[in-house]
Amino acid sequence: MLSAMKRIEEELEQIRQQGLWRQLTPHSRMGACHESGPISFASNDYLGLSQHPAITSAFHEGLEQYGHGSASSRLICGTSVAHTELENRLAALKGTDRALTFSSGFATAMGTIPALLGKDDFVVLDKLSHACLIDAAKLSTATLRVFPHNHLAKLESILQQIRSRHGSAARILIVTESVFSMDGDLAPLREIVELKQRYDAWLLVDEAHGFGVLGPHGAGLAEELALQGRIDLQMGTLSKAAGLAGGFIAASSPVIDLLINRARSFIFSTAPPPALAHAAVCALEIIASPEGQFLRQQLQERIHDFTIGLLPDPHRSPIVPLILGSNEAALRASQRLAQKGFVVPAIRYPTVPRNLARLRVSLSAVHTPHAVMALREACRIIDQINQADHPH
Ligand SMILES: *Cc1c(COP(=O)(O)O)cnc(C)c1O
Repeated sequence: MLSAMKRIEEELEQIRQQGLWRQLTPHSRMGACHESGPISFASNDYLGLSQHPAITSAFHEGLEQYGHGSASSRLICGTSVAHTELENRLAALKGTDRALTFSSGFATAMGTIPALLGKDDFVVLDKLSHACLIDAAKLSTATLRVFPHNHLAKLESILQQIRSRHGSAARILIVTESVFSMDGDLAPLREIVELKQRYDAWLLVDEAHGFGVLGPHGAGLAEELALQGRIDLQMGTLSKAAGLAGGFIAASSPVIDLLINRARSFIFSTAPPPALAHAAVCALEIIASPEGQFLRQQLQERIHDFTIGLLPDPHRSPIVPLILGSNEAALRASQRLAQKGFVVPAIRYPTVPRNLARLRVSLSAVHTPHAVMALREACRIIDQINQADHPH
């Protein structure tokens, strides 16, 4: 027992020495929009919906109607009419037969990929895919292949290799995000869809950061590119732009039936509170409405104002990485910004590759233009820190 504890202490010491120590900071207010105090550029509250009064009312209404707990898993007696209504609305927005919700985006991936693939199958992932996609791929026991970030030629050569060695029977699932969570860049989705069709592979696109943000109705990058009908599994979460919690898959009817029967994180977990689903229906309505369009346009203006001249290329997503390199430099930059009244998190390994530690600025439609310009000005300290670390 003693030696086991000693090992834990040694591991903790190692984490500290590598500049990778993490701890929890409790906050009394959440989301992107605060009336006073430090301004948060840390949340995924891209449209400010985490505090939207109509969604708050819908949450209250759901509590009145259903109580707080669902008291059972979905398959036993935990499916409320609010869950099915939400799933119908998600399918409509995504242009699919059906949709299925899970308690989180993480649980969605962990349930979905192993339900679809076994040991004779292949999963081909973009290198920067979210941890839940990688863990789910490992759990599936399928053979894992990784292509360099957004590298179409490498993706194609992997697909070619699998087909030539294993024939047409092997099931291949390509996995990518639409908006990458730590770099804020977009996947070349049209080209990936063409490849998946050429090699008869399946495609899962995780729109965690595209949902609510892109597309005429906020359904995501697939909607913007009119690709919704050509993607087998559209994954998303209600925890980011929708301002609530819970993950989902939108897909064809047979795929959803398979998930209901096989996805272990769905089957063996208590249904999310019906009130949450009821509130999510309201969030979806706002996202698809003219108000949602207005918020998306406002968000694009903030993104433009913050990034123009700061990044080499035009930027479309609210996630802006400012690379510092070392863990220490990223932490120092985050602390200096905190002193100036801005909350901008330092992101380190293993969330991003080693030596690519960064500040991750998350913009929101509810940030004022003034706050965005003030942060931009404050970010000049990054150049100072970089120069101090790499003097010429
Ligand atoms: C946040 C995130 C998830 C997990 O979603 P949760 O609802 O927070 O569990 C999955 N994929 C990506 C790309 C994410 O950024």
